[in-house]
Amino acid sequence: MTDHDAGELDETFLILQQDYIREAPARLAELRKDLAAFRAGESDALESLRMRFHRLAGSGGSYGFPAVTEISRAMEHRILTPPAPTIREAEEFDLAINNLKDAFDNAAVDVGMPPVLGRVPGFGWRTLVVMRASPGRDAIVVALEETGFVVSVRDTSIDPWDLPPSERPDMVVIATDADADALSLARFWSAATADRPRAVVLADPLDQFDRLRTAAAGLDAVFGSAALPRGLAQYARALAQIGAPPANVLVVEDDPAQAQLFSSWLSQLNARVTIAASAQVARDALMQETPDLVLLDVDLPDVDGYALSRLMRQDPRLALVPIVFLTARHSLADQMEGLRAGGDDFLAKPVERSHLLQLVLTRTERGRRIRELVHRDGLTGVLNHATLMAELEHAIAFSDRHGEPLAFLMLDLDHFKRINDTYGHMIGDQVLVHVTRVFKRTIRGSDLLGRYGGEEFGIILRKCPPANARSIAEKLRLALADAPITLPGAEPIPLHVSIGVGCFPGSGVSSTQVASAADRALYRAKSSGRNRVEMG
Ligand code: GH3
Ligand code: MG
Ligand code: MG
Ligand code: MG
Repeated sequence: MTDHDAGELDETFLILQQDYIREAPARLAELRKDLAAFRAGESDALESLRMRFHRLAGSGGSYGFPAVTEISRAMEHRILTPPAPTIREAEEFDLAINNLKDAFDNAAVDVGMPPVLGRVPGFGWRTLVVMRASPGRDAIVVALEETGFVVSVRDTSIDPWDLPPSERPDMVVIATDADADALSLARFWSAATADRPRAVVLADPLDQFDRLRTAAAGLDAVFGSAALPRGLAQYARALAQIGAPPANVLVVEDDPAQAQLFSSWLSQLNARVTIAASAQVARDALMQETPDLVLLDVDLPDVDGYALSRLMRQDPRLALVPIVFLTARHSLADQMEGLRAGGDDFLAKPVERSHLLQLVLTRTERGRRIRELVHRDGLTGVLNHATLMAELEHAIAFSDRHGEPLAFLMLDLDHFKRINDTYGHMIGDQVLVHVTRVFKRTIRGSDLLGRYGGEEFGIILRKCPPANARSIAEKLRLALADAPITLPGAEPIPLHVSIGVGCFPGSGVSSTQVASAADRALYRAKSSGRNRVEMG
């Protein structure tokens, strides 16, 4: 073997080690879940715990982390050695799991990764329920507690930043009766940050919600009156088992036996399955909720599956939902027709179970990523232009209904071109990322920040009268002036921003009017010397 080959092997091994460590939080969470079950007296928990320790004992050493093996082997040995451990010995396992976490942390440092693996949720995981007090809320809390979650309750919206990291929930249940607009709250919680809860779901006990918008708000699931509290509790249980939001699959199949079969297969993925026996029933289901994937039969009693697929592709909300045709038709012509109709995959019956499940897994995961990409700006991660403007429209409609004021800030960096010209566009990009961080930490969690265009940003402030909007704009301006960006080996680069404020209802009653007012005010701020706030 040449040195070159050896180097390549080392490199490959390092990547394997890093992948193994990335998996560690999930492994530790599984251990904790089993431990919780053991404490709760579940009979098979101990055997499951033993298997997990056994696997870690085997894998730890192979990846070059003997400490992981040592701790795990001792625990496996304890479980196998009579007398069987009693619940009182749970403490000892707890300690061992903590030691494993330390061992993984050390291993991470050894292979050049950050030492903190992220939160390792001790099961039960935390759920935050944002809902006004009612018997319905009590029922939800009880149902969630029964699945092993630790539940905390707020009757009005809470700013996520107000929670210490250790209390950040694993799941957030937002009710449509929450104090703030449920969707803006959902959007905030589901924003793509490291601290995103595993699941952000909507409880809509009165079925009053416009379901069409929930997917865009980043919600993982919606539960209407029929699914509360039981459907939510089932979802929570699945979440605890697989650690990722269960996929929501619509099976369009007119043969009840086959529908039942696919549905039982999919339940092995902990997916939530809705069955529709005709295209019409499927359409109704699609109106209610945006699925993560549609399994679509071609021969249906009303219109054929191709037609339903075409219809979905015409609707912007459904255009990106993965469609898998699953049909007894085998011909190439049929497959081509399926592709033309907008299908992503074409499976001929009889289908292999593992094939179908793998396809569903892969497609739903990718679909979720695409959803994020569609609504967020790639550079800064804040809302993109189209989503920000759609949000402004919805926010104004909401404010109108509730008789609340609202403000829209348009912010434009001063002399940004100079930064690009002086330092180059790469540094310019870093400045844009830096600026969004400063803005984000200055506004509240329930405010919406988006990138309007190049070096222009927009912020929607709910329940905000003009005087408050002005002072928040001033706060933003000063916050940026106080936070020049510092790059290695260079002088800090001072940053300034000009801000125009549009108000509802003062500046107009439509989103266009309010945004135009903000734009005109921004122009005045620029004309009168920059680094200023002007009211529209
Ligand atoms: P003013 O104070 O009048 O706002 O001056 P300005 O230089 O900030 O404004 P102008 O509109 O003349 O220039 C904006 C610049 O922003 C031009 C463009 O190259 C730059 N820009 C837009 N988008 C990006 C981006 O994504 N990355 C980088 N690095 N620069 C961008
Ligand atoms: Mg059929
Ligand atoms: Mg500009
Ligand atoms: Mg500018």
